[in-house]
Amino acid sequence: MGLSSNFHAAHADNLAPSREASSIGEAFHRLSALAAAGADGREILRHALLTVMPGRLAIVSSFGAESAVLLSVIAGIDRTAPVVFLETRKHFAETLAYRDTLAAHLGLLDVRSVSPDRAALADRDPAGALWQFDTDACCALRKVEPLDEALSGFDGWISGRKRHQASTRTTLPFVELEQGRLKLNPIADWDGPRIQAEFARRALPAHPLVARGYPSIGCAVCTRAVGEGEESRAGRWSGSDKVECGIHRASVDA
Ligand code: SF4
Repeated sequence: MGLSSNFHAAHADNLAPSREASSIGEAFHRLSALAAAGADGREILRHALLTVMPGRLAIVSSFGAESAVLLSVIAGIDRTAPVVFLETRKHFAETLAYRDTLAAHLGLLDVRSVSPDRAALADRDPAGALWQFDTDACCALRKVEPLDEALSGFDGWISGRKRHQASTRTTLPFVELEQGRLKLNPIADWDGPRIQAEFARRALPAHPLVARGYPSIGCAVCTRAVGEGEESRAGRWSGSDKVECGIHRASVDA
């Protein structure tokens, strides 16, 4: 068999995974090969959820301005897939209501709201004011640590991050290894117009704050509306150097 035949055989095999991966590393290599062969993010996601890592992945969603599109894609594949929402206790009331509205609209059957540990809150942020003087410590307490706990039973997770969102995300791949877990970014290549088109095509309900000038929505105390011409995430931790909450850490190669 020549080089070309070998390539096409491997290509076909990668495009149609037929069995579950026995390790995270194997899953990473197989899904990365799928991406290298030209599969789009949704195709990779479908293979990951149904064949390569069934029951071993969680979706992490902020139920923010653009979250509905990825959740809609997920619902089209597997409505029982676990969706983790980090309930920081600092969200807008609109976000909590939208979480419930959207979950019902899409028929998601396993949305898990994960809160910070009570004892840790009482110890490290008894007044609920940590965000005012140390946002990194607050995000660690209210997001990073609860997420680590929530993901302890999973081999990987799925995020809705996109390359267009910020200068820190321009090279975001579909498949990553991070802290020993697989991480998928299935709509990494979707830009603003594509997101809007998918919202319309799928008739998705919008987060109520979008119409009030919030294109990116996090905790209420750390998010402001943005003005004309500002980057979509300019309203997050406005006035500080902080651009990420810390749950997305540096990727490492397999
Ligand atoms: S976004 Fe603000 S309030 Fe929310 S966890 Fe981070 S620092 Fe705390």
